[in-house]
Amino acid sequence: MNIRNDPTHPDDAAAGIEVTPEFERFTQRNDIFTRAFWDDSIRSAKTDAFFASYRMEATPRRGDGFGQRDFALRNASWLISDVITNRGAEDGKREGFQAPIANDTPVAPEQVPVDDPTAMSAEVKRIAQFFGADLCGITDLDTRWLYESRVDTRDLSAAPNDLPEGLTHVIVLGHEMEEDLVATYPSALAGAATGREYSHEAAVVMQLAAYIRNLGYEATASMNDTGLVIPFAVKAGLGEYARNQMVITPEFGPRLRFSKIFTNLPLTHDAPKPQGVRAFCDICTKCADACPVKALPFGPPEVTNDSPSSIKGVRKWTSDAAKCFGFWAKLSSDCAICMRVCPFNRDFRKWQHRMWLKLALSPARKIALWMDRKRGGRVKPAAWWARQG
Ligand code: SF4
Ligand code: SF4
Repeated sequence: MNIRNDPTHPDDAAAGIEVTPEFERFTQRNDIFTRAFWDDSIRSAKTDAFFASYRMEATPRRGDGFGQRDFALRNASWLISDVITNRGAEDGKREGFQAPIANDTPVAPEQVPVDDPTAMSAEVKRIAQFFGADLCGITDLDTRWLYESRVDTRDLSAAPNDLPEGLTHVIVLGHEMEEDLVATYPSALAGAATGREYSHEAAVVMQLAAYIRNLGYEATASMNDTGLVIPFAVKAGLGEYARNQMVITPEFGPRLRFSKIFTNLPLTHDAPKPQGVRAFCDICTKCADACPVKALPFGPPEVTNDSPSSIKGVRKWTSDAAKCFGFWAKLSSDCAICMRVCPFNRDFRKWQHRMWLKLALSPARKIALWMDRKRGGRVKPAAWWARQG
């Protein structure tokens, strides 16, 4: 796929995206999880132990939230995702993470005619919900956010990041993480909120892609592979980018994962919906304050061109990925303290949180921040287990 010479896009202002002339597409080999296998400045006995802890025989056991049943639940929650990611290992394709998910069904030889792309977009959203997606938005295939190359997991070399020709749209799906589990970060138990959604999203994204192929159109299912999902989610109007490196949505705040489908099914696009999260993050540093290793920035968004694990030429809040992953390795589990403490980490289906959201997105945002001052504390993992009866 060719990238335009001009690195800007008409949606950029509305999406809050600022790209500079130094822009370069991201090389997936440089993501921190891949560097943990080939870059000696990242790799250590602790990072090896982190990955090993996803197998029960290598699981450390220590304290509330890090006992055998915490790891047992977390590792079980990843199971379906693992089945998908492991099936292409012989070809160096870690599907869903370092290669797109392979098609299990062919494109139907006959194409259902689509006379009304707006109606088809509504249908896709309805079917996404039917399969279990919590959010769905549609945007154009903006090639800036595709990886320059993917990773061949056999030797960790750069491999071509190929997609079928002629794809034009990206369907972005959001998958809510369980609120009560997220409240227990940091813990191995909390990692079950992440694993369950990866397993869940693998099923949802594969089924929706299969539906589109059954209609006679190309559809490539994707999780963290192939491209950066955050800019696609923002462009598809699902939420806004925030200081904690997450997309804040009006439904679940930052408490969700995203997957995507690249397709040529005729569809219309959603528009970015800036509502004021950026202005709120400007007055709030709860995530940066709470980060145990101070991996999040306190100041305004910046262009960072000197860190291999962050995209070059984009003005944004950027974490220190090495510090962040170092903490994950120490825990032997993922961390999302910065998700847990975020004032937007609420269930906006409840009216009282919708009232708070109105305030947070208004010029009275400082009052909303003050009202949040006692929220976001860690719930003991034992309390989660006790609640389950
Ligand atoms: S995930 Fe944890 S370590 Fe990483 S930036 Fe967030 S709070 Fe810090
Ligand atoms: S904790 Fe505050 S600064 Fe951080 S992402 Fe949430 S609202 Fe923004």
